[in-house]
Amino acid sequence: MKYADTIVDLVGDTPLVKLHHVTEGVTSATVLVKLEYLNPGGSSKDRIAGRIIDAAEREGKLKPGGTIVEPTSGNTGVGLALVAQQRGYKCIFVCPDKVGEDKRNVLTAYGAEVVVTPTAVAPDSPESYYGVSDRLAREIPGAFKPDQYSNPNGPRSHYETTGPEIWRDTEGEITHFVAGVGTGGTITGTGRYLREVSGDRVRIIGADPEGSVYSGGTGRPYLVEGVGEDFWPTAYDPAVPHEIIAVSDAESFDMTRRLACEEGILVGGSSGMAVVAALKAAASAGPDDVFVVLLPDGGRGYLGKIFNDKWMRAYGFSNAPAGHTIAELLA
Ligand code: PMP
Repeated sequence: MKYADTIVDLVGDTPLVKLHHVTEGVTSATVLVKLEYLNPGGSSKDRIAGRIIDAAEREGKLKPGGTIVEPTSGNTGVGLALVAQQRGYKCIFVCPDKVGEDKRNVLTAYGAEVVVTPTAVAPDSPESYYGVSDRLAREIPGAFKPDQYSNPNGPRSHYETTGPEIWRDTEGEITHFVAGVGTGGTITGTGRYLREVSGDRVRIIGADPEGSVYSGGTGRPYLVEGVGEDFWPTAYDPAVPHEIIAVSDAESFDMTRRLACEEGILVGGSSGMAVVAALKAAASAGPDDVFVVLLPDGGRGYLGKIFNDKWMRAYGFSNAPAGHTIAELLA
């Protein structure tokens, strides 16, 4: 009989698929995307949860009956909640209010508690999502804060799984790796592995929302979720990427919608952002180049935003169709 023992045994080994329509007329390179939404919790963050919890247990930071407290925009929370469930830990997640309600409901569906904090406060304010999670971690007995922004097991997970999978599946033909930068764990771990295994032949490209610190911004607000920062986390090693490409919200959201419409790939805004960065880099690449772009999560958590014409227009993304009358459709 072929079956997994538990749901967390199905994390990783996500497939690569080639892009056809959005690359047409833009590049002669092969552009492959890695579908991280096919992880059981729906994102690349499933990869880091198991290793972070294993290490905390080993180091005595998490004991039976303990509580996991983490500031997370949702995906890390799902990954942690899946592992916590299996091992009998409680989870409390702190989310900024810009995170969609559907995403927060996913966390509560997995049995976690969610605390919502305002986005429009300084990162060092006690009301910020960092400040609130610090206090909860301090005051709840038996609490453990994984801190994905500084936990070395984040990048290590990608070094041990994501990187080797890409090298294996491309049979070493990969020439460029592109990923969005949030905590920096994905690009640091995967990028480091691919540089090492290829004798430094693979070019590592980070994608960043315009305004975020990684591409020289000051942390100015942007709408794409899960990527960009207003500070420099230690999970990110700036020596790994060769280049960081800034992408606007408008470009990211437009590409996110095109991926769904033209490629049948329903993913989140940070995936659209990574594809835009890849196409910018691939414009000057040749037919022997093989780009791999990591798409961190699926699009269902964004149906009320990126895929909602009213929301898009309200935020000034004018390319969102206004909807058609019957007369127009029959004309
Ligand atoms: N996209 C989404 C939707 C995410 O949730 C995250 C994680 N914050 C990322 C991209 C970036 O991944 P990383 O934290 O490994 O840089």
